[in-house]
Parts: sequence; structure tokens; C-alpha cells
Amino acid sequence: MIHNFNAGPSILPKEVFEQASAAILNFDNTGLSILEFGHRTPEFTAVMEEARSLVKELMQLNDDHEVLFLHGCASTQFMQVPMNLLDSKESAAYTDTDIWGHKAITEAKLFGKVDVVASSKEKNYSYIPKDFAVPNDSKYLHITTNNTIYGTQWQTIPKTSVSLVADMSSDIFSRVLDFNAFDLIYAGAQKNMGPAGVNLVVVNKNILGKVKRVIPTIMDYRNHIKEGSMLNTPPVFAVYVCLLTLRWLKASGGVGAIEKKNIEKAALLYNEIDNNDLFTGNVAKEDRSKMNVCFVMKDPSLEKEFLQYAKSRNIAGIAGHRTTGGFRASIYNAMPLSSVQVLADTMRSFSALHKA
Ligand SMILES: *Cc1c(COP(=O)(O)O)cnc(C)c1O
Repeated sequence: MIHNFNAGPSILPKEVFEQASAAILNFDNTGLSILEFGHRTPEFTAVMEEARSLVKELMQLNDDHEVLFLHGCASTQFMQVPMNLLDSKESAAYTDTDIWGHKAITEAKLFGKVDVVASSKEKNYSYIPKDFAVPNDSKYLHITTNNTIYGTQWQTIPKTSVSLVADMSSDIFSRVLDFNAFDLIYAGAQKNMGPAGVNLVVVNKNILGKVKRVIPTIMDYRNHIKEGSMLNTPPVFAVYVCLLTLRWLKASGGVGAIEKKNIEKAALLYNEIDNNDLFTGNVAKEDRSKMNVCFVMKDPSLEKEFLQYAKSRNIAGIAGHRTTGGFRASIYNAMPLSSVQVLADTMRSFSALHKA
């Protein structure tokens, strides 16, 4: 068994892989593959409806919030959000806490004005800014709840009088939040939900239809809402796999239950990082991510050797992002505690080897 700590596309529950493979050969006892199945059939419509309603249930969303599964990646949402929400003369507040948030800022500037109200860029994105003000006339405040590359996470969601928009690509369904406090949430599926190619978008319908620009049909959230997320051919297989993960999540006790496990997994790994002489964390402790655990070696010349050593113990995907180096262990919902234990044990035995 390989312990896959890759940041994304990443591990999904084993039973989801099994059920998805079975459906490629025979979807729901129809004798047809899910890959050849018409999206307007009652069977697939039921898949889409169950997926949307499970999201509503797991996030405890109120009736103002609509759930959509849209084509593309989180980067598509970097432009689709401002296209739908921000007029050219208006201003939106953005937080710059990682490369992803930074890219969202770049795209928003194509549509309107951007106020970067908080940034940790000058300190290599090693913390989450705490004290900052959002101008009252901002159209919305955009945050990236979990910073996948640098390994920080907003532990408390900022309170603001303006609309709150969040990129939750890498911590969606990992912890209990007041999801109704957000007017728009988006997440690329491939970190914690399903295969690449689909976005989950949760949007408060009351904030739509306020911009003057003409929005291309396929980019306008309102058209997708009207059509029940079936405006055109949805990414059928990706949505199906998301449904399987959502069912697994519900059967595992929902978001609250998975959050408890995530806390335990993260504590185990950070504890090893803090107590092992060879390793050290590189972000502010109070802002540490429970999804992407980033760390380095005090002696960087040992990093290659540790990677090799970890590989020999069936640990995969722990090299840091190509821009940061060091290590990153992504411990999303589907990562079992036992695999995190293997990684911690491997760090300890490597350290013992070097003391000998
Ligand atoms: C991975 C990631 C993205 C980019 O996702 P794509 O689907 O590759 O566009 C954006 N935001 C966050 C927080 C991510 O983790």
C-alpha cells in the first residue's frame, strides 16, 4: 500500500475508487458505463440532484444558497466570480495569503478594482493576517480559507459587513463552519472531493444579477441555477465521483465527525515536527493548516536523502510545491490516521539513524 500525501489530485476513500471503477463498467445495474450514459436520463439527473442535496445537507445551507457543479477548475472561478459580482467601477477586497489568492487577485483586476486589504506576501506567506479593515463599499471580501502551498489556514473566518467569498478548494468539508455566512464558496474538486474537472460552487442567489456587464451564457451563475446545474453536459463522471465521496462523508458521520479526525491527524504530524530535532515547521503555529502540513529540515542537505528514505517506506507525494521546496504532507479527509502515523514513524526512525 502506498501512502499518498499528494496535494492534488489527491487521495479519495478507497471505497470511492472501487465504486467509481465498478460504474465505469456497469453504472447502477443499467448495463451501461457511466462514461457513455446520457446526462438527461432520469438516472443521471438523480445523481446530480442527490449530489446537490447532500452538499446542502452536509453544509446545513439555507434556502438562499444554491449548489452548482460547474466545469473547470478553481482557476476558472478566479475569473467567474468577479465577472458575475464586480462591476468595472466597483471595488472588491482581496486577501493575499498564498499563490492561489494572488492569482485570484490578478484575475479580478480584469473586471474591476481590487483592494488588497491584507497580505502576508512579504513574509513568504508564513502567516494569516489578523488585523485589517475592509472598506464598507467593497463589493465583497475574498479569502482563501486554506493555503495549499504554504500550509496556513484561517482558523477564524473574518467577520465583515460586506459579502464574503471564499476559495475552499483545499479544505472544503474538512471542518464545521457557518457556511451560510458566505455568499459564495467555490472549490475545485480534486483536493477533497473528487477528480479534477469540476468545481463546486455554493452561491447566495440574492447577490446575483447586480452587475451591468453582459455575461456569456455559460459563465452566468443564474443560468446554471435555473437549469439545476444541467445547463449543458456536466462533467458527468466527475460529478458522479463527487457524489460517492459525499455519500462516504455522510456515512462517516458528516463534517463534524471528519473534523475530529482531521484534528487528530494534524496534531500527530505537527507533534512529530516539533519534537524531532531534524525537522521544523515554517509557518506561524497558530495558523497551521490541518490539510497541508508544510515543513523543512534544519539541515537542507538531508532533504533528498529523507525523500528517498520515505519513498522506500511507500510514502509518496511529500515533496513541497515546486516554488517552495521542503516538504508538504497533504492529509485530506480521506487520509487515514494510520498513514499519518507511518509518516511520523518514518521521520522518527530517520532521525534515529542520523543520531547513530
Ligand atoms: C489547487 C488550488 C487551486 C487551483 O486549482 P485548479 O483546479 O488547478 O485551478 C486554487 N485554489 C486553491 C486553494 C487550491 O488549493
